[in-house]
Amino acid sequence: MSAFNPSELYHKVYVLRLGHRPSRDKRVTTHVALVARAFGANGFVLETCDDKVLGSLHKVLKMWGGKMHIECGVDGLKYASSWDGDTIHLTMYGIPVERVIENIASSPKPKLVVVGSERVRREFYEIAQYNVAIGNQPHSEVSALAIFLDRLYRGQWSSIRYENARLRIVPSERGKRVVRVDG
Ligand code: SAM
Repeated sequence: MSAFNPSELYHKVYVLRLGHRPSRDKRVTTHVALVARAFGANGFVLETCDDKVLGSLHKVLKMWGGKMHIECGVDGLKYASSWDGDTIHLTMYGIPVERVIENIASSPKPKLVVVGSERVRREFYEIAQYNVAIGNQPHSEVSALAIFLDRLYRGQWSSIRYENARLRIVPSERGKRVVRVDG
């Protein structure tokens, strides 16, 4: 299978994680960041800086490769309002992804995918070009992001080849096969 390079489709796909609470969200926010990387986004933005979360992301990038723009300590609303491209807010109250994904995917514009934690401020619903639901039932920012990126890239993310990886997995039916990559 040939390698897929997400940047050839969209120059910028950033994920903005709103309302991270370091005291309780470390694990979920880390998973949001790892899903962003694994499913083809090339930027991760966090309102509240958290060394543990960003440290885990840096560690994965070092071992498993890939490059990401990483930013924290931003005002999410200002960031999303001044985004030069499409702002896509994932929410159970939005329009089902099936109905809008063609419009979103057919535009080459940079994409900011916004996911919340607890309650998302009303202004985000107003400034987003798209309020998109992954089914109109409550679940999680991790699952919502994974499914949205899967639809955006039509499943091709699974063939991304991460540059500068030190480790690669050799898929195997049983056990774990991991190889070191030289150079
Ligand atoms: N009331 C929230 C909402 O607006 O979707 C659910 C809170 S949930 C704990 C945290 C985040 O998960 C939300 O801000 C949203 O980004 C995402 N999320 C949860 N369910 C979703 C769904 N069905 N579709 C899209 N996003 C969802």
